[in-house]
Amino acid sequence: MHLFFRSLVAGLLWSLVTFVIDSVESAGLLTRSSKHIRTDAATLAALTDGVIDYMRGIVLAHVLLGLIGGVGVYAAQALWFPVQPSRRRWWATVVVGASFATLGLYLQQMIHFPNLHDWAGTPIAWVDFWESPRRFEGALAALGAFTLAVAAWRWRQAGQGLGGYALRVGGLVAWVGATAALLHHPAPRPIAAPLPPGPNVVLIGVDSLRPDHLGHFGYDRDTAPAIDALLQESVIFSSAWTVLPRTYPAWMSTLSGQWPRTHGVRDNLPEPEHLVPPVALLPQVLRDKGYATAFVTDDSRFSYMVPGTGFDTIVQPELGVQNFAVSVNEPRYKLFHALMHNPIGFRILPSAAYNQAFGKSYRPDLFIDKALDTLAEVSAQGKPVFYAVHSCVLHAPGDRAWPWHQMFGQNGYRLERNRFRYSRSGSEVLDEDEETGEQVNIVAAQDVRIYDSGIDMADRLVARTVDELKRSGMWDNTIVILFSDHGEEHWAPDLPYKFGGPNHGFHMYGTGQSRVVWAIRFPEGMGPAATKVVDAPVRLIDMGPTILDLLGFSYPAPTDGASVMPLVHGQAEPEPRLVYIETGVSEPRYWTRGHRKYPFKTISQRYRLDPDTGLVHLRPEFRPQLIAAKDRAVQVGPWKLVWHAMEEGVKVELFDLRTDPLNQHDLSLSMAPRVAALAARLAPFLRADGEDPPALAEWEAAAAAAGPGVLAP
Ligand SMILES: [Zn+2]
Repeated sequence: MHLFFRSLVAGLLWSLVTFVIDSVESAGLLTRSSKHIRTDAATLAALTDGVIDYMRGIVLAHVLLGLIGGVGVYAAQALWFPVQPSRRRWWATVVVGASFATLGLYLQQMIHFPNLHDWAGTPIAWVDFWESPRRFEGALAALGAFTLAVAAWRWRQAGQGLGGYALRVGGLVAWVGATAALLHHPAPRPIAAPLPPGPNVVLIGVDSLRPDHLGHFGYDRDTAPAIDALLQESVIFSSAWTVLPRTYPAWMSTLSGQWPRTHGVRDNLPEPEHLVPPVALLPQVLRDKGYATAFVTDDSRFSYMVPGTGFDTIVQPELGVQNFAVSVNEPRYKLFHALMHNPIGFRILPSAAYNQAFGKSYRPDLFIDKALDTLAEVSAQGKPVFYAVHSCVLHAPGDRAWPWHQMFGQNGYRLERNRFRYSRSGSEVLDEDEETGEQVNIVAAQDVRIYDSGIDMADRLVARTVDELKRSGMWDNTIVILFSDHGEEHWAPDLPYKFGGPNHGFHMYGTGQSRVVWAIRFPEGMGPAATKVVDAPVRLIDMGPTILDLLGFSYPAPTDGASVMPLVHGQAEPEPRLVYIETGVSEPRYWTRGHRKYPFKTISQRYRLDPDTGLVHLRPEFRPQLIAAKDRAVQVGPWKLVWHAMEEGVKVELFDLRTDPLNQHDLSLSMAPRVAALAARLAPFLRADGEDPPALAEWEAAAAAAGPGVLAP
């Protein structure tokens, strides 16, 4: 056989061997994706199809890498053997060389993506040993140089001229260069002149971002230098609140200016007919006004955009069953992840592209590249731009690759289960602190480190977006809004339920998941002359009306929310804006005694997979149960009323947010007039959902008799 073809065979054998080894390691994961799940036959078939589809992509990628590797084998052996060896020696050398190269690649990748590479047992010691992958890569480069020197010595020993040696080194370098060119991820296009006419709106959403974890709000870790810098240039709303701590309903309220009861999206993954709400959305309005509209996100499991929402350009991970079936049990095809995160690999395996759900292999920087590339693309259309980007890096699974797995003291942490990703730590994991003797939850503390390092990931998105806007000059006519769709609940001592976080949307206690980041950076001439902090409460439903107000447009119909610009300009409003929040699908562990339960206990009773589209939706028959079991909260000033959806009777609790941010001390028995006043505000929300217990009318009567003063701080 000609040496070139023999080399190709060797390359294909190499990729086959790695495929087999990785398949053995991934077999359990892949099986879990489609078996042992209690669901209907059609869903199971779709899950199995998803796995088969995934495997088809992996196999194709291995064939491609095998061929590329084969060319490399040819180039390497041509250099190593000045004189043709026996076939046996040739094969022995190739096997040894390929083994070393593969091992080096695996060890290097293990430092970058430890979660994906726990094949040798615990990788923690290895990962912590190399503080930076650059060191290991330096060692590999030194080894490569040594190998080249040995090859040169072999050529001399064989009495061959160095010209042949140089030629073959050139061949090997050409192979490395060509492979790198083929498999690299392209840099984003720059925003280029002519700039869009403007005024443009750039909406940067960071999923689950809590304001109190930012340095600007007094946090002690330096989680987000770029966000802090942007806040310095912005008008900040220090008391901003979500409407429902789940991504899709929160985004729909943000884009529509409507409460969930008005737009009808009552949790993530609504039924197909609720995906596009029957109310006007910001991108629809702006598109009609001549705007180019785009939405970019890195997670499409629980929230995704469809064209009907008004976004002309939508960049999001491929929708479908692989996001659920394969991502949780992400297979360990290391060669793919080491070499194929590029347009070719993403074409072969679309679900791997910029997908935070596949956390073990996710690359935040590539997502940012893609987001900036999309920004440049929509900016080149000659229209004003409405560009929205939503980063989900703080959302579970919370996988942390280098350098984020080393931030904020994670290095010294030795408990394997949440060294690199959230563990959903329970309340029962308590240890005695050696210094203080207090009961501490070290698992939860590590989850917070992981959360905080994710803020740094999101910070890079903000940094690079702001830099590109400034560099291009688009900054001068662009309104930049930073916000979070909801916060995140972290473990705390003495919670009134069994903790299963980090999470959001399950209950109404505390402010961690309900308080959000909201800041507006105005270009010159559009906002107030100086930056400032607005302390009056604002809601996500106020954002869409604010943006349209700034641009001189309005929604075609009235909205529940209203522009915050009067507050920005310092105008007093007759009373603070009512904060209303409701839960999404919850679980019994978060419910008070006597709470309404779902008749639909299993996931498959609540959700259905549409086998035609591969999309997961809430089942229509579950919707009334979901709404009936929602807990709700209203806040006016420091006073917060929590409504529990009870099987019988009513139960409310009153909290003072100033002294009791975790909501552990119910004041409802001692402050009946305040309860009545808040319950009267809640009543319209309950009646809209068909809840009208006699207590509502009694509270309303008591509130009317007491007058407006009882809710004063
Ligand atoms: Zn979210």
